[in-house]
Amino acid sequence: MSDVPPEKPSEDSLETVAAEVVGCPMCKLARTRRNAVPGEGQLSAKIMFIGEAPGKNEDEKGRPFVGAAGRILDDLLKKAGIERSQVFITNVVKCRPPDNRVPEEDEVAACRAYLDRQIALIRPKVICVLGRTAYSSLLGGGSITANRGKIVEKSGQKYFLTIHPAAAIYRKSLTAVLESDLKRLAQEVKESEGTSMEDYL
Ligand code: SF4
Repeated sequence: MSDVPPEKPSEDSLETVAAEVVGCPMCKLARTRRNAVPGEGQLSAKIMFIGEAPGKNEDEKGRPFVGAAGRILDDLLKKAGIERSQVFITNVVKCRPPDNRVPEEDEVAACRAYLDRQIALIRPKVICVLGRTAYSSLLGGGSITANRGKIVEKSGQKYFLTIHPAAAIYRKSLTAVLESDLKRLAQEVKESEGTSMEDYL
């Protein structure tokens, strides 16, 4: 297993990042994945959603948030007036951890350069942090339930904190919480731009 980090080419692109992710051998998750999941969405997206890791369905299809959690996210994005086709969705690690365990520190660290390159290319207005692992990885945060609904800024980047959609599979009452947060996110973006959502998605 190589310990050389992926380099950012001078002419980087989302397609280049995705191609490198698909063949990436940089951490032990490469040995157990079926398909790496680079993420998908628009280069021009103003909102970037970042979750924890691909699950079983994502691993099978090579696409992010296509299982039960993805269906919840799709539904709630629609209710918030945000089209999934108009955002970029990815995860902290791009390959499925065995049995859906939480990604380990070395895996998150190995995968970080890909995420940083995606963020640098997209330059989103807001990064929506989905759940504890993304919160911890991106902002060094602890409890997402204690901080959800908040907007924080770090190094000039705005982040919106909310729970992972998978949490709503196990506790139905959290669906309303996530719905409320995503509506707030949509409103926040709208107000910060002083224009309608459609103008910048
Ligand atoms: S999780 Fe990231 S670093 Fe690890 S093999 Fe997959 S793409 Fe590479």
